[in-house]
Amino acid sequence: MSDGVPESNDQESPEAPPERVLTTLNQDGSRRWIRPRSVVGRYRRWRRRLAMVLMVVFVGVPWVKVGGEPLFLFDVLHRQFTFFGQTFLPKDTLLLALFLLGSFLSWFLLTATLGRAWCGWGCPQNVYLDFMFRPLDRGMEQLSKRFFGRKLTAPLPVVLQILRVAIYAVLCLVLANSFLAWFVGWDALMAWMSSSPADQPAAFGVVAVVSAAMMFDFLYFREQMCHLACPYGRIQSALLDPDTMIVAYDSARGEPRGKAKAAGQRGDCLDCGACHRSCPMGIDIRDGLQMECVTCASCVDACARVMERAKRPPGLVRYSSQAELEGKPWRLVRPRLFLYIAVISAVWGALGFMLVSRSSADVVALRAQNVPYTRLDSGLISTRARVKIENRSEEPRSYSIEIPDLAAGQLVAPTEPITIPAGGLENTTIFVELPASAFTKGELPIGIRVFDGVDFDETIDFRLLGPWGAR
Ligand code: SF4
Ligand code: SF4
Repeated sequence: MSDGVPESNDQESPEAPPERVLTTLNQDGSRRWIRPRSVVGRYRRWRRRLAMVLMVVFVGVPWVKVGGEPLFLFDVLHRQFTFFGQTFLPKDTLLLALFLLGSFLSWFLLTATLGRAWCGWGCPQNVYLDFMFRPLDRGMEQLSKRFFGRKLTAPLPVVLQILRVAIYAVLCLVLANSFLAWFVGWDALMAWMSSSPADQPAAFGVVAVVSAAMMFDFLYFREQMCHLACPYGRIQSALLDPDTMIVAYDSARGEPRGKAKAAGQRGDCLDCGACHRSCPMGIDIRDGLQMECVTCASCVDACARVMERAKRPPGLVRYSSQAELEGKPWRLVRPRLFLYIAVISAVWGALGFMLVSRSSADVVALRAQNVPYTRLDSGLISTRARVKIENRSEEPRSYSIEIPDLAAGQLVAPTEPITIPAGGLENTTIFVELPASAFTKGELPIGIRVFDGVDFDETIDFRLLGPWGAR
């Protein structure tokens, strides 16, 4: 390939295993570089259009704000997550659990229905690799041919290799920043960029590490990310069933394969290898359903052109299902999907209800630590409680505290409203003075009212501690 490695560097060795273990490994264990042929066809056109939209989404979404809040922000540093302008804090465990469960189940439904459509059509790994880096490699090969007279499959001249690595570095730096923006936000990222590395060593370290990881991935690791590292690729076999949509070769029609079709003796496959050569995962779809296949449909387009030229009907390699290939009816709608849809609807419904009914603040009253009450010189009891107030709204709010129906005493602190920033959490201690006779068996049930004068007004039950007897 353009990084100095030929299209296929298969090597035989006396110790070679009887069959290939990975498409990216030669039989002697060395790397087999995959250099897929570029294809044209309707699926390729649709994938290109979708890839352009997705690249804008991947880079642009962190810029989008809803009501002053990011549309999406996975703020791991501050342990808060924002989805569609709704911020989830660490204590929103149930909401987060429902969100993650709903997301995973929806993903499972997509896989059970459309197979690895996400991998081939939507995953950033394949979007960037297929529509940014591989076209760049092909451009380098064209330059090599035009200005250095080399074959397209020959190693690049050193000057073009250096240029290629430099362009990869710039692109990976941009992609690393746009990736990090999902986790820290563009505002923080712009602040990092506009300051000196000496002022923000940790931030620059993170950008450097992520950029280097992307360089490693796109320059070297490539399709092995799908083969070896991605957990989704690993679990997909458990999610597929005979009716799941896959890319498949119709062996009943294609076999016996052969270059020329002697009358009535051969199937439609011309054994031209176009499907295999176009595969970015390096597999031959004619070997059947394989874990490495990401359903990108490059082989479908490649074979369709071969069939067109040979004046045979298209669809020898096509989107299909195992059931359809075996001559059974293809059931797109089946009980398993209904089960997924029912559970997913319940999970998203519960999450939606909890979000809609969620109040703009959360208040918790707790016992004071250490000495719960003291006796004042005046003979009154000074007792206290801790109150935690979390402002879940998108703006600063001022919260007042009252104890209604406190007939025999008074709240002495706090008397002023407590201002808490958007998303902030404040701990305060309330002090109440009252006579010892107000307590029964050392306790006095009260209600602590917290309100912001906007839309939050809640009274929580609490038991103040005091002396056991009346004196
Ligand atoms: S076999 Fe076909 S659909 Fe599967 S990854 Fe290769 S080219 Fe894409
Ligand atoms: S591209 Fe079509 S005809 Fe050519 S080898 Fe593949 S399946 Fe056979």
